[in-house]
Amino acid sequence: MRVFSGIQPTGEIHIGNYLGAIRQWIELQATNECIFCIVDLHSLTSPYPPSELQKRIREKAIAYLAAGVDPEKSIIFVQSQVREHTELCWLLSVVTPVGDLQRMTQFKEKAKKYKKNVNAGLLNYPILMAADILLYETEIVPVGQDQIQHVELTREIARRFNKRFGQTFKMPKAFLPKKGAKIYSLENPTKKMSKSDPPHTYISLFDSPQSIKKKIMAAKTDSGKEIKYNINSKPGISNLLTIYSSFSNIPIKEIEREFKGKGYQVFKEKLAQLLIEKLEPFRRKKKELETRKDYLQNVLADGRKRAQVIAKETMKKVRKQMGLN
Ligand code: ATP
Ligand code: MG
Repeated sequence: MRVFSGIQPTGEIHIGNYLGAIRQWIELQATNECIFCIVDLHSLTSPYPPSELQKRIREKAIAYLAAGVDPEKSIIFVQSQVREHTELCWLLSVVTPVGDLQRMTQFKEKAKKYKKNVNAGLLNYPILMAADILLYETEIVPVGQDQIQHVELTREIARRFNKRFGQTFKMPKAFLPKKGAKIYSLENPTKKMSKSDPPHTYISLFDSPQSIKKKIMAAKTDSGKEIKYNINSKPGISNLLTIYSSFSNIPIKEIEREFKGKGYQVFKEKLAQLLIEKLEPFRRKKKELETRKDYLQNVLADGRKRAQVIAKETMKKVRKQMGLN
């Protein structure tokens, strides 16, 4: 099956991105045809320093490789290097109702976050995402819970296009992990963890042991002292329990039993230890990859070439269906 997913070169890749998306990528690449993109065009919709962008893109490529994406099996490339994404985005925009874009949760949240910069790109973000997915005749889209709405809209756009211009696109499906599809902010456990928020609100895949310990110990917890999962009355502890369970593969019920009567401090110390241990291989691989600049460039150049072949094929078909030449 064809698999497509992407991450924006904003902030640092965090454990939410890993559990929600990347961990599934690694499993899927064993038996599927996977395409993993660094979606730089998407990231332009939030304020950013242009002089930093290339560095951020490189960091994300390193993160993909360090987390286990295998360029021998999967295509890794940078979105803006395959121009067909923007072309298809425009063509899909004519079958996308503005009302659908305006009711997207991410648009509403980002419009609130960047009040002074509610640009049209922020509104049109899901059309570009639909283009990313449909361009590669994608069947499976491994994403976190926050992106389900956009994948649903992609399906709607594909349906509308096929109806108006004739059968062209395959119907993609979102693919979510059983656990960890939505990890919450360490500072505000009712809000999702986001890499465009300040670093103390998330654990980066590459945080140092000291930093992991500091962030976990400072993570917001709830009143009371019981280690008990209840997303409504104990969102802070519930989030930490989800993280613990996702990284240890121990069911939450069992973790609750283990920490019965032990209090938040002991639990947090153990969680910090677990994360330090589980993230250590990523830190190590990242260090090694940072010294291999040519290799990284080759991976992206090769990914670009392979992606372009598929993208060009699809665009030929789309242009023909729409009466363009
Ligand atoms: P930004 O704040 O810049 O939007 P982000 O953390 O939301 O950053 P994205 O690049 O937008 O990261 O998303 C990358 C992938 O990670 C997507 O598949 C998304 O669904 C997933 N993801 C993002 N945040 C979380 C989270 N808190 N829990 C689980 N999955 C997440
Ligand atoms: Mg996001």
